[in-house]
Amino acid sequence: MSRGSYQGRFLRVNLTTGNFKAEIIPEEVMLNYVGGRGFGVKYLYDEMTPRIDPLSPQNKLLLLTGPLCGTAASGCSKWIVVTKSPATGGFFRSIGGGKWGPKLKSAGYDFIILEGKAEKPSYLYIEDNQVEVLDADWLWGLDTEETQERIRKRHGEKTQSVCIGPAGEKQVLYAAIVSDRRTASRGGVGTVMGSKNLKAIAVNGSGKTDIFYSEKFRELVRHQIKIVKASPLWELLKERGIACSVKKHYHDRSQSPVRNFRETVFEGIEKLFPEEYYKFKIKSYACWGCMTQCGKIRKVEDGPYKGAISDGPEYEGGAVLGPLIGNSDISFTIAGDALCDLLGIDVISTGVCIAFACELYERGIITKEDTDGLDLTWGNHPAFYTLIEKIGKRDGFGKLLGEGVMRAAKQIGKGAERYAMHVKGIELPAYEPRAIKGYALSYAISNIGGSHMYARPFAEVNLDVDPASEDLWKSEEIIKEQKRIAIWDCALICPFAQAGIQPFGNESEALHFKLLAAATGFEQFSNYDYLAKVAERVITLERAFNI
Ligand code: SF4
Repeated sequence: MSRGSYQGRFLRVNLTTGNFKAEIIPEEVMLNYVGGRGFGVKYLYDEMTPRIDPLSPQNKLLLLTGPLCGTAASGCSKWIVVTKSPATGGFFRSIGGGKWGPKLKSAGYDFIILEGKAEKPSYLYIEDNQVEVLDADWLWGLDTEETQERIRKRHGEKTQSVCIGPAGEKQVLYAAIVSDRRTASRGGVGTVMGSKNLKAIAVNGSGKTDIFYSEKFRELVRHQIKIVKASPLWELLKERGIACSVKKHYHDRSQSPVRNFRETVFEGIEKLFPEEYYKFKIKSYACWGCMTQCGKIRKVEDGPYKGAISDGPEYEGGAVLGPLIGNSDISFTIAGDALCDLLGIDVISTGVCIAFACELYERGIITKEDTDGLDLTWGNHPAFYTLIEKIGKRDGFGKLLGEGVMRAAKQIGKGAERYAMHVKGIELPAYEPRAIKGYALSYAISNIGGSHMYARPFAEVNLDVDPASEDLWKSEEIIKEQKRIAIWDCALICPFAQAGIQPFGNESEALHFKLLAAATGFEQFSNYDYLAKVAERVITLERAFNI
């Protein structure tokens, strides 16, 4: 039953049979798991045999919203994917943005569970209580932008979709699920969707999201706007996007990796500074209802990548398509980022795979005979652009790299494993764990491998502490951050949107917990200790799923 901002039901679709049903979310589940990642792991754990093949019809794919999704709270309307990952073989979660989450809520569902496998390429169309598994022959093979565009033409301009690109169809192991240009990209969630022959989930809805204590909620939203606007970070994110962090990482503490994590100083870094990216900006982009609008749409106006348009790159994309592969050509980072989104591949894994290949090439472990004739010298961006296309289409050498560095290294042999930068099969994000020591511990104990958003050592990343401090190593700090991010992932509060949310336990964070309580009517949600218990439950269940 609906309760406040919860629709109180989810949609279960069996793609093998085409059957579907709406099921009630018990109040006890809301209280114990809050939403998003919490709901995801609860249902995954309860319903799935952990030992199944992630790319078999027995795997389940869950797309979920949080309790604040579709409300007036700014930056709380993203969606999350939960499944068994083909990259790690364990529980995984990946978060996407855009406007799809509120649309799903307006159709009357808090989340979807997808089971089985469609007999042929299909897409799911949802319009309130009407649910259909439809033929996707006319969409198969299209990139993610064209797919969404054609769906809008058929089902109406207001239709919101999540979809996979050619990479998901062809089972690249780090394929993404994309909505607008926003991606749930890590862990192969798009690969799982492709394994089900599912190209897209298109949604229209006519409902609305209620609020339990509406007057109180309105007052809190007004306060949220004030707090976010007062944050010095907000203007920066709004104007420059997440690329604004590049300068800090490189120059203050050499925290970003260079040339496959071999070095930390890059000679061409000033060409990739935020002010350079700013010159390419044509407009901003926001997920639904977000006043921070961190998305920066950039266009390349001349040179070999003329015409490329990307919602990015953000910090990670710029770093892995830049210094990590020895490249200082800013246009390539924009065009390469756009290409990853269109093909539907994770930009972090793509960049790390290219860096891995460059190092093997330099060391003579692979040659042009292995790379389809591509010269993979550091910084040779025209070759990298071709390689991204090959990865996304699983063509030639790209097919091998599309397996991710862990598996590719095993196939190559000759000591290649030494240069494969991953934790538990997930390519490392653009933080140098030898400089940001908290990340070393975070990756090692994470339930999803090398993710920078599972437990983020904020104090270290934000340069608020002395890097030599022993405190950085304290497991308590990382456990605290694991819980904090788990709470955000259950509530689906975007950490970038809440510019004033740091440091831990500040006014902004407390305000968001009050928003949760006012929207749902569960007073418990305004209490950090209660939510920390929820987080512990979620993290423990993930671990239990993995063992
Ligand atoms: S800050 Fe950026 S990622 Fe977060 S909700 Fe806003 S637009 Fe989306």
